[in-house]
Amino acid sequence: MKLYNLKKPEQTVSFQEAVKIGLGDNRGLFFPESIQPMDNIDELLNLGFVERSTKILSHLIGDELPASTVAEMVSAAFNFDAPPLATVSDNARCLELFHGPTLAFKDFGARFMAQCLAQFGGDDKLTIVTATSGDTGAAVAHAFHGLDKIDVVILYPDGGISDLQEKLFCTLGGNIHTLAVKGTFDNCQALVKTVFEDAPLKEQVNLNSANSINISRLLAQTCYYFEAISQLTPEQREQAVISVPSGNFGNLTAGIIAMKLGMPVKRFIAATNVNDTVPRYWNGGCDKWEPKATIPTKSNAMDVSEPNNWPRIEEIKNQYGLSNEQLVALSVDEATTADAVKALNEIGYVSEPHAGVAYQAIRENLQDGEIGIFLGTAHPAKFKADVEAILQKEIDLPTELAEASVKPLLSDYIANNYEELKAKILSVG
Ligand SMILES: *Cc1c(COP(=O)(O)O)cnc(C)c1O
Repeated sequence: MKLYNLKKPEQTVSFQEAVKIGLGDNRGLFFPESIQPMDNIDELLNLGFVERSTKILSHLIGDELPASTVAEMVSAAFNFDAPPLATVSDNARCLELFHGPTLAFKDFGARFMAQCLAQFGGDDKLTIVTATSGDTGAAVAHAFHGLDKIDVVILYPDGGISDLQEKLFCTLGGNIHTLAVKGTFDNCQALVKTVFEDAPLKEQVNLNSANSINISRLLAQTCYYFEAISQLTPEQREQAVISVPSGNFGNLTAGIIAMKLGMPVKRFIAATNVNDTVPRYWNGGCDKWEPKATIPTKSNAMDVSEPNNWPRIEEIKNQYGLSNEQLVALSVDEATTADAVKALNEIGYVSEPHAGVAYQAIRENLQDGEIGIFLGTAHPAKFKADVEAILQKEIDLPTELAEASVKPLLSDYIANNYEELKAKILSVG
């Protein structure tokens, strides 16, 4: 697989290099030089999740990795139940992407990226340094936990994430080192940035940021779209409309790549909360890209006004075509999102605000004869307080969260101070 830098097309790299570097020169995203449709889609859809995912990822990665190696990586990454397609109503389904170890869809991408970095690292030791405001940190921590030769240092604002979130990734130990920083999330990000600008440190320690724009994550995420479609009848497949609750638009990029690989689907809906840069841009004929200040919402993982994966979708449009029939963009406000979560509850399905946005978009956009799939990106218990406030009832903690919630915290506490962080990195690496 060859990829090029969207900001500097003459920079071309292999898949391995793209995974290791993360971002290209001028902070450009890497994009595949070609996306070739797959053959025998019906046969592919008949396979089980892990076997099918191996075929899809082998097809994308090409001869850079033997199929047997990809198979091992996929089995290790996707070592939990395949995502179920829950029937919510006659014409609506939820693809539940929250059955992985941190109960959110970010597990899929993070776990495959971890396998890639472990695979490509050879005998070198590697230290991942990253900052989190909650969920990504948990996904990264679990993805790398127990991997040989890799240490992970995760910074988070002390007191700035929920207790449950903290328990989910600060109780692992082993190669996972969590640092509660006396400061804000921005302070944490600034500290991490300083790490990657510290040339002498980078001489001593082999560093990687496990960035969320890493191409390996996107490729892995194409796999669950095929899984969703595989769970429909052949007649339903051509009528499928997939609604993706979007923030940075990595998830939607993966879905559109799946469509370009030949996966049957009628159209995608890009569903955002009131942070609606993309719906305004797309529905305005792609004339004006006008991000506004970010507005906090209950679907807070989607509170993004400058989505960093959008250039990849734009590139797909330019290279392979993406019409207004194939992609619809809708924004859903807070009150309507709460109504959607309530409406789901009334038909017997407990959900949460991110999926609520996507379900509402289905309600607004679905035509007769179509079947709507909205992505359940996180377990409702991850947003327990908000969901309970909307539904006026208590919801249960799943076993993973209940178990983590009683484990002791293993975090170290540091000041908002680079030297303290550096000492910590040197002590683990
Ligand atoms: C990250 C996240 C999203 C947004 O996904 P993008 O790929 O950034 O568009 C949606 N829902 C939840 C729960 C998330 O954690």
